[in-house]
Parts: sequence; C-alpha cells; structure tokens
Amino acid sequence: MRVVVTGGAGFLGSHLCDALLARGDEVVAIDNLITGSLANVEHLFGNAAFTFQHHDVSNFIHVAGPVDRIMHLASPASPADFERIPIQILKVGSRGTQHALGLAKDKGARFFLASTSEVYGDPLVHPQPETYWGNVNPIGPRGVYDEAKRFAEAMTMAYHRYHDVDVRIVRIFNTYGERMRPDDGRAVSNFIVQALAGQPITIYGDGSQTRSFTYVEDEIRGFLALLDSDQTGPINIGNDNEFSIRQLAEMVLELTGSSSPLVFEDLPVDDPTQRKPDLTLARTLLGWEPKVQLREGLARTSEWFAAQATKGQL
Ligand code: NAD
Ligand code: UDP
Repeated sequence: MRVVVTGGAGFLGSHLCDALLARGDEVVAIDNLITGSLANVEHLFGNAAFTFQHHDVSNFIHVAGPVDRIMHLASPASPADFERIPIQILKVGSRGTQHALGLAKDKGARFFLASTSEVYGDPLVHPQPETYWGNVNPIGPRGVYDEAKRFAEAMTMAYHRYHDVDVRIVRIFNTYGERMRPDDGRAVSNFIVQALAGQPITIYGDGSQTRSFTYVEDEIRGFLALLDSDQTGPINIGNDNEFSIRQLAEMVLELTGSSSPLVFEDLPVDDPTQRKPDLTLARTLLGWEPKVQLREGLARTSEWFAAQATKGQL
C-alpha cells in the first residue's frame, strides 16, 4: 500500500508512519511543521519507502503517482493552541480536510479521518457512545477545534455519500506517549516535564475533572484495525479507565519520585468535566482493545522525557 499521512511529523503521525513502514507500506508524510517536528521522523529519512513533503494541506495538495490510503491527521491538537492559532485550526479542519478528501477521490484511495472525543464537547452522556451528538459551545475558545472536527466529519460523510469515497472515521481519546512536545501544554506532558524539573505541577481547577488516557502504541494499533476493517465509523479508540486530573498528577509524582508541589490554577473555559469512551464498537467490530494501562504507559513516557532531558532536549 502507498499511504499518504498528513500531519506525519506530529506526535501521532510519526508513530503511525513507523507502524505503516514496519508492516511494509510505503509512506508519503505531508506536514507544515506548525506543531510537529522533523526530529520525530528524522530516523526515517534513510528509508527508501518514506518520503516527506513540507506543505500546508490547507492549500491544494499534490502527490505524484498512485495512492491507496490517505490518513488525515494534520491539525494542532493541544488546547493551548486553540487560542494561539485558532484560524489555522479552523482552516486545516475545513479546507485541509476537503483537500485531503479531494485527493482521495482523485486517486480512488480510502480516506481515514483523525477525529476526536472533543466532538462530544462537555458531554452530558457518560461514557460516550458514538451515537451521542455532543454538547459543544460553538463560540467558545475550544469551538475552533471542536467545530472544525465536527465539520471534518460532516465533510467526510458527504464525500462518502455523494462521491462514493471509501472512508473511515476514528474518534481519538486523550493519547500520550513518547514524542509529545514538552511545551505542548497538555496535562501528561506538562506534569512529567514539571515533575522532572522539580517545578510545581499546574492543576487547572480542583483536579476533579476526568479523562481516560490512551497509550500511543494502543491508539496506533486501533487506527490500523479501523483502517483495514470494512467499518466506516465513527469509532471511538481510547482507554476506558478513567482518572481525575489530580490522580494523574499524583501518579506522575510517584513514578518520577519527584517532590514537586501541586498548584491550582484557573480551569480553562468549557474544559470538559468528564470523558470516557464507550468501547463497545471497537471491541465488537474491530476486535480491538487497549492493552497498556496508565501506570505502565506513564512510566515509559516519563523515561523518554528523562532521556530527552539528559540530551538537553527538554
Ligand atoms: P501534533 O500537533 O503532534 O500533530 C499534528 C501534526 O499536523 C503536526 O505535525 C503539525 O505540524 C501538522 N499540521 C497541522 N496543521 C497542518 C497543516 N495545515 N498542513 C500540514 N500539516 C499540518 O498532534 P497529535 O496529538 O499528533 O494529533 C494528531 C491528530 O490526532 C490531530 O488531527 C488531532 O486532532 C488528533 N487527535 C489527537 C489526540 C491526542 O490526544 N493526541 C486526541 C484527539 C484527536
Ligand atoms: N490540565 C491541567 N494542568 C495542565 C494541563 C492540563 O490541570 O498543566 C487539565 C486540563 O484543564 C484538562 C485536563 O488536564 O482538564 C486534560 O487536559 P489536556 O490539555 O491534556 O487535554 P484535553 O483538555 O484536550 O482533554
């Protein structure tokens, strides 16, 4: 298979490139590096099956030659970016998705959309099944991301129904692991970096809000299970063990042996109070389930961050 991965130099995109190449696929990664880094894919540059295009997919996408699969991951994903680069997020979710779909239509390729649990907003149904339509504030600061992804899902289904493009939609729940940006702003990377540096752990609100954290290896295995299946989706891929943010902070402190104090800061506007996937579809239709639980995944991730720190790369 020849697979185009938009956002291929990002956290998830680079792990996906690794997994595709490992199973013998050819990969064309496209990225404008707005939140990604060449450091995530530099180990692939000597691989003849890997090519990289530095390009903003909100502009027309050109890929020479045949393409079998297009996996559209390009989009900033951290809430810290929602206020920093809101227009780029809306553009890549709307125009970027349409260009990637247009390429899929032109090449006769299967299209895979990286959607998100954020389409459920601050959910009033718990855990969240794919049939839940969500509780999103369209005009709040998170709306730029949530609505871009909801639009991307709508556009994907329109190309599927109207142009008969073969599509897959995954709804990704909070995923963490090696290659997260240290200054990304997300809870897992912030807490580990703060703990390793002996700085205060910044808990937003009182830390009682919950998330269900997925280790990157499980998430990528879920992507490939959906990609290769006959299911259009959307399908939730995540871990259904739920933790409060305070519990996450305490686990990071324990694993790193840090004595950083906890400090409490303002809760961001519209921060979801709870989040946990209903995994019935993933389990029954894809035979997939998460294997790496939070303690083990966090241990691996903090080891990686510690190694980065010793290389002076934090
Ligand atoms: P990331 O920021 O590390 O990766 C996104 C990549 O897309 C980056 O390399 C960035 O440079 C690139 N990109 C952004 N806009 C682009 C554009 N216009 N043209 C070309 N490249 C562009 O984030 P990630 O966590 O790896 O997220 C990857 C995808 O998964 C995103 O679509 C995100 O919305 C989705 N997702 C991630 C999570 C998570 O917990 N990590 C959760 C839900 C959804
Ligand atoms: N959070 C926190 N401290 C931080 C970063 C995040 O308490 O330094 C909280 C954030 O408010 C949210 C949760 O942790 O309630 C998860 O945040 P993250 O940015 O990782 O993901 P998302 O909000 O997109 O689920």
